[in-house]
Amino acid sequence: MNFSDLALAEPLSRAIAEKGYDTPTPIQQAAIPPALAGNDVLGLAQTGTGKTAAFALPILNRLAANPKHRLKLSTRVLVLAPTRELAAQIAASFTAYGRYLKLSVACVFGGVPIGRQERALFPGVDVLVATPGRLLDLVMKGACDLGHVEMLVLDECDQMLDLGFVHDLKRITGLLPKQRQSMLFSATLPPTIEDMAQRYLKNPIKVAVKPAATTAERVVQTVIHVSQPEKLALLAHLLVEPDVGSAIVFTRTKHGADRVVRQLSAHKIAAEAIHGNRSQAQRTRALTGFRTGEVKVLVATDIAARGLDIPAVSHIFNYELPNVPEQYVHRIGRTARAGREGRAIALCAPDERAFLKDIERTIRMQLDQQALPANFRDLVGLTAKLIKSSPSAADPPREERDFNRSPGGRGRDPRAVVHADGRGPRREGGRDGGRDAARDGARREGGPGRPANAARPQGRPGGGFGGQRNSGQRRSPAGR
Ligand code: AMP
Repeated sequence: MNFSDLALAEPLSRAIAEKGYDTPTPIQQAAIPPALAGNDVLGLAQTGTGKTAAFALPILNRLAANPKHRLKLSTRVLVLAPTRELAAQIAASFTAYGRYLKLSVACVFGGVPIGRQERALFPGVDVLVATPGRLLDLVMKGACDLGHVEMLVLDECDQMLDLGFVHDLKRITGLLPKQRQSMLFSATLPPTIEDMAQRYLKNPIKVAVKPAATTAERVVQTVIHVSQPEKLALLAHLLVEPDVGSAIVFTRTKHGADRVVRQLSAHKIAAEAIHGNRSQAQRTRALTGFRTGEVKVLVATDIAARGLDIPAVSHIFNYELPNVPEQYVHRIGRTARAGREGRAIALCAPDERAFLKDIERTIRMQLDQQALPANFRDLVGLTAKLIKSSPSAADPPREERDFNRSPGGRGRDPRAVVHADGRGPRREGGRDGGRDAARDGARREGGPGRPANAARPQGRPGGGFGGQRNSGQRRSPAGR
């Protein structure tokens, strides 16, 4: 199939030809024809699959076929997305694909002054991309009337539920006309999303592309076993390797991200942090610098793991392994996008072995072990004592050896291992990670961290992505 088979309006075909797209991606092939025919669509796909165009092109086609005068405060199309960055990216796609149509596209999200958004909505728009909290604020102020929406998209629905938007979504959909076309996209289909699909969609056509757990095939994934105190020196060493074009370094916590940026700058490596505690202006500046290549290294919490489309990322460094294994898949999905190759290197400290095992179970493969770079320890000038007491890349970490030697040790659930000092392996964020992840996750438009006291997803059917998510979690009003 190619784009001409989809019989899109000429201005749309021209715009996508100029973007350099020749063939629709699998999700586009599956979703565009039923959406063009006016059906509701339930799409199982994550970013990186071309899913934005899968809903934007049929919507734009319908707007082009049926032009109408804009009504004050109204929009014909409403797209809801979980994060500011994703909302901005979707709005940019609508603008790019619709560049030869005379349409007005607006984007609203929290964390920035509301006045300009009120003014943008006043004359009415054709397409409004919004995060749920800010949209409700605008509705409550009388700045936005949702009574004329003809088409609705709920994008990254599972992440919206993770971030506690379930009630906001209910309120927003209650304000929409019953007669409308709706599309719901999600990377996973837990029962909560199935419920939502039942509630918000009418006889949807279900389309799916490969589950996230198997999409990262073009990413060469390795793990380096290294002690915690050596991680930063190792990261600095790896970042200056000639094949590293631009890299995202993932930490579990916001403080961790700031710390890594500071320490890298001591190694003369320019890096910027992106996480929920940074202002919108700082986040935008960091992303712009990264996109243009001015900043080579972005240090991010999981807020950046979803939705961002930055084609040039050559390397992902999991500086701290995620305690939610699915996040690993989202993180490494930031590289090897749009047909490119990418590399993902996990730096695994002894106390992160249980996280690594969880990840390997989720992606259904073992990560290849990569040795520490030759002379690494001499180069960083670590003391002989440290060398002696820290595990080498070749040997399993000491606790793993002890675990394997202990009676009945092998094959036992590594989560049951208790350290000699009585600590259990850290599973809910580590160090300050639990607290931070909780705040990140609870923040409106923040990152999908799992709170320290929230249940981990249990039993992923098929070993993949079906885990029950923490959908009832409510964000604090602080992010409004
Ligand atoms: P998305 O999943 O919507 O974030 O898209 C991921 C990336 O794929 C974006 O950079 C799009 O510009 C690009 N893309 C989307 N559709 C196509 C296509 N048919 N051919 C080539 N690239 C595409």
